[in-house]
Amino acid sequence: MGQPQSHKEPYLSVVIPVFNEQENLGQLQARLATALEAAGLSWEVIYVDDGSRDRSWEILCRLQEEDRRVRLLRFNRNYGQHMAIFAGFERVRGQVVATLDADLQNPPEELPRLLAKLEEGYDVVSGWRQNRRDSWLRKIPTWIVARVTSRVVGVAMKDYGSMLRLYRRPVVEAMNASSETSSYIPALANIYAARVAEIPVGHSQRSGGASKYSLYRLLKLNFDLMTGFSVLPIQMVSLLGILVALAGLAFGLFLFVRRLIVGPELEGVFTLFAILFVFVGLQILGVGLMGEYLGRIYREVRRRPRFVVSETRDNAPQS
Ligand code: UDP
Ligand code: MG
Repeated sequence: MGQPQSHKEPYLSVVIPVFNEQENLGQLQARLATALEAAGLSWEVIYVDDGSRDRSWEILCRLQEEDRRVRLLRFNRNYGQHMAIFAGFERVRGQVVATLDADLQNPPEELPRLLAKLEEGYDVVSGWRQNRRDSWLRKIPTWIVARVTSRVVGVAMKDYGSMLRLYRRPVVEAMNASSETSSYIPALANIYAARVAEIPVGHSQRSGGASKYSLYRLLKLNFDLMTGFSVLPIQMVSLLGILVALAGLAFGLFLFVRRLIVGPELEGVFTLFAILFVFVGLQILGVGLMGEYLGRIYREVRRRPRFVVSETRDNAPQS
């Protein structure tokens, strides 16, 4: 497989976001090391502790003492999975960068297969969770998101939620340069990648602990995805607004003609109420979406730091 550029620069950098994963880290590191060792390539792994409140950092520090290829970053609080990955991205040294979940839902053993695919000449290789071991409640939104994102980003993918992925370094650097405050990494990567491949990978049940995504966080992430990558939603609302207005006009005309022929209607009050609700609902939706875009502009304009790294543990020479 790929050769390292020099003895200092590893070929592969693995970035793993960690948020309260104390049950999984030991096994994760062991399986990762075994799998990459077997593939015979030089590698490093960057764990980003996203403000864990359990013993995760302690365990990571121990892993780092045992293996010089382990590098650690710690956030001062929880900034979210994608911010953690971005922090790792800023420090990668490998020509190829992998991301992976810490809960062992993404088997590290799949990495060599993904690498082989990348070396066929792709910029991004994504693992598509064929037999996904999550509830239907999680799978259906994922399916919808994948369809919509495929249209919006212009790159069709079966699975936009999978974080078992490989990127060539230039793609990662383009993502680093984009420095948006909220962003969805798989979609962002596809904007900068020329050739993208997707291969089926295994998926396991979470090994320990609970999912870090509540319904609200999941919704927020998908909202980021929709509004962060296109103005399509707001355009749809405008289109809907025009259609509803036309329908209202047609209905008014109908009532007018009916009045001439049959006489004035007396009990149509509630129909009017129904129509009114539709209009009011649409207006609120429209205003909400406008607010979303405005909020985003405001956030970007402020240029606040996206996260604060409070501690690093690194054997690698600083560049
Ligand atoms: N994660 C994180 N910060 C967060 C939430 C999650 O770094 O605020 C990490 C988490 O430790 C795991 C990965 O992101 O490595 C995916 O999270 P999780 O397994 O909870 O998501 P799910 O598999 O349920 O979609
Ligand atoms: Mg998980």
